[in-house]
Amino acid sequence: MKSQDIRSKYLEFFKSKGHTVVPSAPMVLKNDPTLMFVNSGMAPFKEYFLGQAKPVNNRLTDSQKCLRVSGKHNDLEEVGYDTYHHTLFEMLGNWSFGDYFKKEAIAWCWELLTEVYGIDKDILYVTIFEGDEADGTPMDQEAYDFWKAIVSEDRILKGNKKDNFWEMGDQGPCGPCSEIHVDIRSAEEKAKVDGKSLVNADHPQVVEIWNLVFMQYNRKANGSLETLPNKHIDTGMGFERLCMVLQGVQSNYDTDVFTPIIREIETISKTSYGKDEQVDVAIRVISDHVRAVAFSIADGQLPSNTGAGYVIRRILRRAVRYSFTFLDQKEPFIYRLVNVLSNKMGEAFPELKVQKQLIQNVIKEEEVSFLRTLDQGLVLLNGIIENASEAVISGEKAFELYDTYGFPIDLTSLILREKGLKLDEAGFHAAMEKQKSRSRSASEMSTDDWTVLIEDAVQEFVGYDLLQAQVRITRYRKIVSKKDGTMYQLVFNLTPFYPEGGGQVGDKGYIESANGNITYILDTKKENNVVYHLVKELPEDITKVLSAAVDVKQRNRTSSNHTATHLLHQALREILGEHVEQKGSAVHSKHLRFDFSHFSKVTNDQLEDIENFVNARIEGKLPLQEQRNIPLQKALDEGAMALFGEKYGDTVRAIRFGKSVELCGGTHVQNTADLWHFKITSESAVASGIRRIEAITGDAVKDFYTDNSAIYFEMKELLNNAQEPIKALIHLQEENSSLKKQVEVLLKEKAKQVKGELKNEIETINGIQFLAKEVDLDAAGIKDLSFELGGTLEHAFLVFGTEQNGKALLSCYISKSLVESHKLNAGQVVRELGKYIQGGGGGQPFFATAGGKKPEGIVEALDAAKSYVVNA
Ligand code: ATP
Ligand code: MG
Repeated sequence: MKSQDIRSKYLEFFKSKGHTVVPSAPMVLKNDPTLMFVNSGMAPFKEYFLGQAKPVNNRLTDSQKCLRVSGKHNDLEEVGYDTYHHTLFEMLGNWSFGDYFKKEAIAWCWELLTEVYGIDKDILYVTIFEGDEADGTPMDQEAYDFWKAIVSEDRILKGNKKDNFWEMGDQGPCGPCSEIHVDIRSAEEKAKVDGKSLVNADHPQVVEIWNLVFMQYNRKANGSLETLPNKHIDTGMGFERLCMVLQGVQSNYDTDVFTPIIREIETISKTSYGKDEQVDVAIRVISDHVRAVAFSIADGQLPSNTGAGYVIRRILRRAVRYSFTFLDQKEPFIYRLVNVLSNKMGEAFPELKVQKQLIQNVIKEEEVSFLRTLDQGLVLLNGIIENASEAVISGEKAFELYDTYGFPIDLTSLILREKGLKLDEAGFHAAMEKQKSRSRSASEMSTDDWTVLIEDAVQEFVGYDLLQAQVRITRYRKIVSKKDGTMYQLVFNLTPFYPEGGGQVGDKGYIESANGNITYILDTKKENNVVYHLVKELPEDITKVLSAAVDVKQRNRTSSNHTATHLLHQALREILGEHVEQKGSAVHSKHLRFDFSHFSKVTNDQLEDIENFVNARIEGKLPLQEQRNIPLQKALDEGAMALFGEKYGDTVRAIRFGKSVELCGGTHVQNTADLWHFKITSESAVASGIRRIEAITGDAVKDFYTDNSAIYFEMKELLNNAQEPIKALIHLQEENSSLKKQVEVLLKEKAKQVKGELKNEIETINGIQFLAKEVDLDAAGIKDLSFELGGTLEHAFLVFGTEQNGKALLSCYISKSLVESHKLNAGQVVRELGKYIQGGGGGQPFFATAGGKKPEGIVEALDAAKSYVVNA
């Protein structure tokens, strides 16, 4: 069965059981402080499990893109070495939110595997939770009984908390689970070792394929469990592992999900898979990582230096490292695999197809720059090796190479080994650990449980219509972090505060109690669909009604910039072309930033056209037309633009200004005239194929013009109030460059003159023509003089000193013949004389210079110079 069919069979099966098929959510999470990437099928549904939002249907099914490369689930270092863990993989899931529970989940799982897919019952094992004393949780008898009805009892195994109790994080919904394992070893192997003993024992042919989680508890901050009022089903089946079983192969990499990519790698690198273990590992690493990186870029996450972007960069660099070392690829080539990947997966994930060119560009640029780093690292490492006095290279040096230059440690030790040297690995890991604990303690945060003041409160957001409201605190909790100290998160029954999201900053403002006490709201954010307000201290009357007020000025300015962002987006697509895709936006009160795909610099003429386009719409006084809660499809049919990497609900909000229509949850002005004016302040590159425009509106534009006109008038005054200041400036520049030329000529003349005079002052000591003298020349003049004068002499030893702008300068010239015959070295001379002027320097044996901060020392230095020739 082809992988495409395996995927669709799964979705169809659960559709037939009353589930709604939903698309995969984006893999990169934007508004979750606890998680960077979706690492399991349940992550996008957290708000449903927590009861903070309602799904379209209590039964859903999907295939979710997951990435396990950071945090609690991190499989990165396994990938390539085993045959069944990936960084990016698809998790097939069926979901019940307070609807069916263990009975149906278990029965359907068995029906799908054994009847629809036709898997032989004799290769399957199931596990159930054995209970945990410390948690006070009993064995999952219920699940055991349901399994017993359909599976022979000797195939039901009991597992501990580690394997059979699933938790989303340190806190939140959790519960016992049942896992399905397959044993795909040969009959011969099976006869030797009982499959039962290999379950959960890291055997590559006895692996877990499906996990059915029965969510029935909530883990509180203090570690205790409480029973959930609504019980849920969360299942996750590894799509690639299922393909391995159904296609009768022994490794995920031998399924049609991977083979086209592997064939391409073989062709490009002239290697073949399956002959050499090291090459095989490299090929698996690359074929896996290209998927993770390509999907992330398609989701809008570019490689970068921080956060999620840094994780992606490291994944790509790991792939480059393996191809550099084991496939001997010194030129970028991973980007060339994107074509095959997009052909293979583009059907199920159209974002890959549409953005193929961008993905290729970004990967290629990363490859080029990392290969350059590798080259530099090699040079540095060779330096370390050449200067090594011991057979063991310090771990700290290796860490510096790793940390500062991104030079991989395994490559370092490989090269050292080849040169017969060893690496102090313990030292390396100690340095690494030191750095990790530094960054850990900076980001550490503790979160208390919520204190609930009003039970079952539903929150309402009124911020599109109101900037003030009478509110009550429904719950609050304390958070403590190194960065911000102690803060509180307050949840209101209704709130006019816009929470950070969609690129727009969160509202600030205050709440006021009846007796006039004011608590400032420093920021507003959203987590799992709940808006919370950040305050430094709890208000006194937390149980009373409070007056909440949004900072109106900041909100209005931010709204202006958000509306401008839409008009800018429209302008870019109109003027640059339809290939422009939004790749990131930041809407602040003072300015806006917009990143988009475009393959060359935006010219000044285009920027002017873009500004004019937006300003024409501001002058056109276009009113806001807002549609709330319209079906997604209807909005798309009306021409609304949806963005890749964005998660949309079934109903959306559409924002229209004239012909600009976008799906958007942000705040906007009532009329484009409120923007007053739009001004682009910069255009730059963010990455290959991604440009950035920064711009301002309204008051910020007024400030911009005020500041610039102040600068203009000041400049004009400095130009003696010239009628035409630009002409006056050009005139000054021309005058300046002609004067510079004249000065140069004069200085040359002067050097010649000095040379003539100095020639008469040369003494001959021990057969050496010696001169030490203070002159009034700059560094270049001294060098010219030294070489001109020295060139006319056989055995010259010349030392010059000069004071320039309060600093001392010394030079020493020694004829090459003297350097050899008398073992004199100008570099050493200036270093020694340098101490008189409190400075240092160096150069070559025949000419060197030193600079210092003590011009008074020049005379002493020149006096001391004589000793070199006297003693020569
Ligand atoms: P394992 O013990 O094999 O790492 P897990 O216990 O981490 O698996 P779950 O978190 O229960 O797995 O995820 C559900 C399913 O997703 C697993 O049964 C497996 O089929 C699949 N899966 C988990 N991790 C990976 C991975 N890194 N690559 C591919 N598939 C995976
Ligand atoms: Mg795992």
